[in-house]
Amino acid sequence: MSTSDGGQSCKLDVRFLDGTPSYLVDIARRYWDIRGLDEAGVSPLWRTPVHDIDTRGWGGRPHLLAAAASRAVAKGYFCPSCEEELSLPNRTALSRLLAGDTRVVCADCHPTLAEEAEDYRNPDAAALRRAERRREKQSLNEAYAEAEERWTRAHQEVLENEFALRHHPEEDFPELDLRWELAALTVVRNAAKNGVIDIPDHPGLSSLSPDGADVEVMGELRRRGVLYVHPSTPVGSQVWRTGAFTDAVAEAGGDLDALPVPELTGSYYPLATRFYIPYGDDIRTAAASADTRLLRRLSGALKDHRRFAALETLLVEVIAHEAVRYFDHKLREHHLPGVPEEKRPRLREAADRLARVRCLGQLYFAAWAATRNAAAAAQR
Ligand SMILES: [Zn+2]
Repeated sequence: MSTSDGGQSCKLDVRFLDGTPSYLVDIARRYWDIRGLDEAGVSPLWRTPVHDIDTRGWGGRPHLLAAAASRAVAKGYFCPSCEEELSLPNRTALSRLLAGDTRVVCADCHPTLAEEAEDYRNPDAAALRRAERRREKQSLNEAYAEAEERWTRAHQEVLENEFALRHHPEEDFPELDLRWELAALTVVRNAAKNGVIDIPDHPGLSSLSPDGADVEVMGELRRRGVLYVHPSTPVGSQVWRTGAFTDAVAEAGGDLDALPVPELTGSYYPLATRFYIPYGDDIRTAAASADTRLLRRLSGALKDHRRFAALETLLVEVIAHEAVRYFDHKLREHHLPGVPEEKRPRLREAADRLARVRCLGQLYFAAWAATRNAAAAAQR
């Protein structure tokens, strides 16, 4: 196809492929219909812009439709890959050739063009191929899902063996100091259901210790023998040598039947772990009797000089912590800058001193007045 009305002439030898349906021939004819080149001889002038080519409902990729129907050979150019005459994969390729680009490969050497174009020559075969690919992918997904299920089950079995339920006589309930007794009572009261202690199931249980270090509280209660890990603890609550399923598959070199055996590392996430109390005939009565026992011991603290002092210390800590929290909150409310990290120990110290001799209401007032005055000063 060639013309020379204005600008320089340019020849494209358009060859139609055997057995091409006529609807594609028309589209290819229009796609490769070149008027010539511009004055400088570097830009092709096409008779119909790409977006004006009517693809008759075949979608907006005319170069694929053209490739399904034809090969447009640029005379005098050769493919650097197959060294045959260069058939253009698309219009842009011609611009690149004219600009001196020597890397343009022919339509048949293009990595995806032929396969994509083939879909348009034989839409039914293409649909079949796509369905086949979908089925293959689906059965692979199913195999993965099954393997993952088996893998999770294997982990649960390890947990059931490692943390099999154990029962101890109630008398063995460990001796604790007052702080841990209070924490244990909080946990037993607020996070136990049918004897199973599960912190994530009880979001209302906001804090187990004044400093908010709940992870340490749960870890410590386990270390001191109050809590045992329940066999139904979630797989993700423990740290495994191989954590993620994808890592296990990678470790097995993709062989879903050769996944590594689950192995506990001994580390765990105390706030995600399910616990129980082993001091009773079953876990339900153990939790109930722990509640009674802890409460009795805590009430006894009022009569024991040493334990009373411990209770006082803990109360001071709680009040001071609450006062600091309120102070920070008021600073934010007045849009004042927060207390810098290096000054926080002194703030805590001051709060501790006050908490020893004043009640919480008086500390609230002190924080309220101090922040109000600071805000007033900042206004001036
Ligand atoms: Zn080639």
